[in-house]
Amino acid sequence: MNLVRRGVRLETNCPHCGNEGETQVHLFFKCPYARVFWFGSPLQMDVVSVEGEDFLECWKWLCRKYGLEVEGVQFMRWVVCGLWRIWKCRDQMVFEKTMVEPNVALELLQGHWGELDVLTESIHGLQVVHVRLGVRGLGGHG
Ligand SMILES: [Zn+2]
Repeated sequence: MNLVRRGVRLETNCPHCGNEGETQVHLFFKCPYARVFWFGSPLQMDVVSVEGEDFLECWKWLCRKYGLEVEGVQFMRWVVCGLWRIWKCRDQMVFEKTMVEPNVALELLQGHWGELDVLTESIHGLQVVHVRLGVRGLGGHG
């Protein structure tokens, strides 16, 4: 009797596709969900090619393949953001039973990236963001 087909979710199954045995390698790289996500990301990465028996091996493979390229730092930053996003979507599925579609996940990824960009710029450029509180008019003089 196939429990997955009957709609009974086992905790060890992948929350996205129901594949038996949720491993990190499956969740982040082999799951159909992950494949759509990575291919749709700015990296346009086909994760089928990622090699490794466990997460650390896959990570090392990615570092070897992309880490030394001109845009390597940028690339690996996208990878980290992407991994984090997949993990967040997995959590949402497991704990809140809500499916975050890959295209929504990609929008969230872009948003996250934009925030990081602002943060990095302000760190490197030592920019100070002055927040105008706008309370001047409250005293009744405005
Ligand atoms: Zn899966």
